[in-house]
Amino acid sequence: MKKNDFLLIIIIALISIPLIVLFLFNREGNYALVKVDGVQKRIIDLNKDDTIRFETEYGYNIIEVKDGKIGIIEADCPNHDCINKGFVKRNNESIICLPHHFEITVISDNEEYDAFSR
Ligand SMILES: [Zn+2]
Repeated sequence: MKKNDFLLIIIIALISIPLIVLFLFNREGNYALVKVDGVQKRIIDLNKDDTIRFETEYGYNIIEVKDGKIGIIEADCPNHDCINKGFVKRNNESIICLPHHFEITVISDNEEYDAFSR
């Protein structure tokens, strides 16, 4: 009986270690930072579906937040690279619209977010 318990613990550990690793390195972000010219403009909560229009001296970008993901759905930039990038949701993923000096970066709600709100 004791031997079986020990075996069970080993098996549980073997199963849970990859899950923990996956959780740490493949986290989904909870917020997105929007920067224009490298300056922080807004923090967007990815848990709330929303459509936000950003207008700058370079042009406009319309951001959509849906199902925890964020993407640019409309912009008047010449190449539309930012729209073609699609939706992102993983921590540290970003969408950049070069002609508009516009940048979205997905962050988790821990250290980075705290560092910014300070
Ligand atoms: Zn663009």
